[in-house]
Amino acid sequence: MDQKTITTRCCIVGGGPAGIMTGFLLARSGISVTVLEQWPDFFRDFRGDTIHPSTLELLHELNILEAFLRLPINKTYQLGGEIGGKSLILADFSSLKTRCPYIAFIPQWDFLNFMVEQAKQYPTFNLLMQTEAIDILEENNRCVGVVAKCADKEFQIRADLVIGADGRHSMVREKSHLPVQVLGAPMDVLWFRLSRKTSDETFSLGKINFGKILIMINRESYWQCGFLIRKGTFETIQKNGLDAFRESLLAVSPNLNDRVSELTSWDQIKLLTVTVDRLTKWYKSGLLCIGDAAHAMSPIGGVGINLAIQDAVAAANRLVPAFQTNTLTEDTLCAIQKRRLFPTRCIQRIQVFLQDRIINRVLGKVNHPEIPFVFKLFNRVPFLRRIPAYIIGIGFRPERIEVTPETNSR
Ligand SMILES: Cc1cc2nc3c(=O)[nH]c(=O)nc-3n(C[C@H](O)[C@H](O)[C@H](O)COP(=O)(O)OP(=O)(O)OC[C@H]3O[C@@H](n4cnc5c(N)ncnc54)[C@H](O)[C@@H]3O)c2cc1C
Repeated sequence: MDQKTITTRCCIVGGGPAGIMTGFLLARSGISVTVLEQWPDFFRDFRGDTIHPSTLELLHELNILEAFLRLPINKTYQLGGEIGGKSLILADFSSLKTRCPYIAFIPQWDFLNFMVEQAKQYPTFNLLMQTEAIDILEENNRCVGVVAKCADKEFQIRADLVIGADGRHSMVREKSHLPVQVLGAPMDVLWFRLSRKTSDETFSLGKINFGKILIMINRESYWQCGFLIRKGTFETIQKNGLDAFRESLLAVSPNLNDRVSELTSWDQIKLLTVTVDRLTKWYKSGLLCIGDAAHAMSPIGGVGINLAIQDAVAAANRLVPAFQTNTLTEDTLCAIQKRRLFPTRCIQRIQVFLQDRIINRVLGKVNHPEIPFVFKLFNRVPFLRRIPAYIIGIGFRPERIEVTPETNSR
């Protein structure tokens, strides 16, 4: 055991959207923060790449929107769908009363690298890559830090607060024994890429037909595709062979017939086991969970990144004054949970409703699906498309940046 011990005010486990944003906001206010990320870089498999209007508004409040918009983003003003071969628009962001009324598509690693670059300008920001937190440290029933491991060397990081922002398989959540409520999901998702042609649609879309659901996200040179399957059936699908899988794709999207042959191995197809759950208590003495660690989201609506960032802002708004005045208590952490529980619960309720009422009913049906009445209504009364646009783009109880930067901290 290496004797090195790091002391910091806040130790954040996980360098995803929740962890990096919280680290950035704390460091911006002069709080010493150490963020641990287990991988050497952010360049990993597809993990979602949607930056929503409410996040863009936050970037504006932080004076970094202009720099962000200089990155190669793909603006999407509408989300469309194709049900039983009929096209429809399901959400229209362009009429939202916000600075950037669109979803910015950008690979998550580009967004995280951008945020880290911004955070590194503050001297109290410390990011340890390739460093995994393997346990939490507890003394007198209070969390006082974590045990971390880097290149086979173990060391301690002691902190006034540990934030678990380590995603849906959170070590912090598990070791702290916080109670979890599982909401369940009837599906898993298979993610893969297919090339994109200039003559293809420009917007991202979801297609439903013959008991199959395919999501296609425009990544310019290729489509990031998500194919929904019934939970637990991936092994059977693999046993049936790649030819049968390619046929399933063509059933829902015949125009892919000139490129499904690009899928030549199961290694190109990654399984996402969908989980929807939430902690009933997000904190204990010296420890707080946020983002997916507090509430794993269904991929429906692609709201996980946004929600993680909103949690980060709500947390920083309460933690900065508490750190500055040395008044951090369980009440501070309870206030963060209270603030974020309502929007999390609302979004998860909608996701579970759609999973049960649409996805569960569609998967496995062999005929053309009926277009749900509410979707027909969106086509007849375009004004109504603002409702899903608001829920997805802005969400319930959007956060504002309430903490000011420390003048000497850059
Ligand atoms: C395939 C896929 C597609 C998705 N699509 C979308 C989408 O289009 N839009 C959207 O908004 N959301 C999407 N999501 C969900 C979204 O990615 C998450 O909701 C969001 O990233 C949650 O952010 P987070 O920071 O809480 O956790 P994560 O992004 O999961 O970040 C957790 C980080 O912690 C690190 N970590 C874990 N354990 C440890 C440890 N012990 N020590 C150190 N580091 C650790 C991980 O490596 C990871 O970097 C998708 C998710 C997946 C998997």
